[in-house]
Amino acid sequence: MPIHVNSGVVQLCVQSLGCKLESFPQQYLGLPLSANKLPVSAFIPHIQKTDKYLGSWQATLLNPMGRAVLVNAVLDSILVYLMSSIQLPPSAILQMDKKRRAFLWCGDKLGISKLASCLVAWTNVCLPKEQGGLGIRDLGTQNICLLLKLIHRLHCPSTSAWADWVRNRISLTSMTGDVSGDHWTCLRALLPLYQAITTVKVRDGKSCSFWADAWLGDEALEDTFPALYSHCTLKQASVHDVLEMGLPQILVPRLSSQATSQLHSLQLLLNGITLTQGMDIRTPVMKKKDNNIDTGSLYRMLKARGQDDPRAHSSRKTLPPRVQLFMWLLLQKKIQCKSTLFKRHVVDDTTCEICGAADETPEHIIWGCCLGRTVWQRLNIQPGDPMDMASLHTAAPPSHMPSVEFPGFIALICWEIWKARNAKVFRGESLSADQVLLLCKNAAAQWKHRLSRSKKQLADTWCSIFTMARQGQG
Ligand SMILES: [Zn+2]
Repeated sequence: MPIHVNSGVVQLCVQSLGCKLESFPQQYLGLPLSANKLPVSAFIPHIQKTDKYLGSWQATLLNPMGRAVLVNAVLDSILVYLMSSIQLPPSAILQMDKKRRAFLWCGDKLGISKLASCLVAWTNVCLPKEQGGLGIRDLGTQNICLLLKLIHRLHCPSTSAWADWVRNRISLTSMTGDVSGDHWTCLRALLPLYQAITTVKVRDGKSCSFWADAWLGDEALEDTFPALYSHCTLKQASVHDVLEMGLPQILVPRLSSQATSQLHSLQLLLNGITLTQGMDIRTPVMKKKDNNIDTGSLYRMLKARGQDDPRAHSSRKTLPPRVQLFMWLLLQKKIQCKSTLFKRHVVDDTTCEICGAADETPEHIIWGCCLGRTVWQRLNIQPGDPMDMASLHTAAPPSHMPSVEFPGFIALICWEIWKARNAKVFRGESLSADQVLLLCKNAAAQWKHRLSRSKKQLADTWCSIFTMARQGQG
């Protein structure tokens, strides 16, 4: 296989070595290897591998549930190795799904399914069982989970030669540098999601993104100090870069008054930071004992991002990944509040630090406590049955609010209430409902750029709803 060799030299080599002339893509260690974007044909051998298994099963003797088990346990695991390394093109997934669907419904080994036999839409079949699906794995999502493990390997000290090689060529905070190609672009696109599902304990600060990683407290600085972040000229800076250069060096010369006050607060926090030797330590939010990503939990989170509600579905792209993660944990009552930490023996009492009058449960923080309750009251939103977290997700918007992206709007408010709770617990700052509403308004303005063009004016509507809620009480 010639690489960067002109055709005359190639002919000479072929003649003198007596070898065959071939071209990319090639199979190497069981993976398709190519210098260019892989064509779908490169994946055909992997898709055909399943035929061998399908052919040997007495599929028609099994009922669909039995076949569903086989699909998950055997057909999908054949692809794990491939999906851990390469992002499958949608057309390859489509072909795999065709085979899996035919096998599931008709027991057909050749991938031919009669339309009438497919009882439920494939997207519903692929939902987790608790959402009413058959729990057949969605290959696209599974692929993302496995690739995140690859990114995790880059960010962890390991014995992987590949990781060492890549680390020497790129900046880990942005995954840019002397590595390119289609495969790399796919991986890099997953970095924001990876940053959202991990926290960092800083050592040398070189692999930790100053703004996008959660390393100072449990949120990324771009979320804690949005006004300051909007004045930053080097958004991909690492913690090491910023501490070396000084924070003002990466800001525009003139700051707004809000950014100036955020700069002071942040500099106070940075004064306490000293870098040490060694690589930063990454911890996934959903982790296994060996500090590796728990792909099972991650898969469930990615699948659960509001799939059961079409309106929530549209807001998936609107929410920053970190807020998505928070909402996912909140809906399952798994956020790190005191009642949760108490069960794990991390804290020894459960009293709410804001009101001191009740146990700090997820429900209490969001709408039971004086702060949360006041915020919702000012906005005229009734979160339905106060004990049911799921109603947050499905609540119908009041008539004075836009129904489009309403779950995103709710998530924004919950997120700000949670941040206000953290401000009290971690920094001793007590915010009023009025201040929380102002933060919501600022966040809505920030989120404007996440909305598609046709929806941008929604953010303005939200801003004015928050402003009115503030004025309502003077
Ligand atoms: Zn309280």
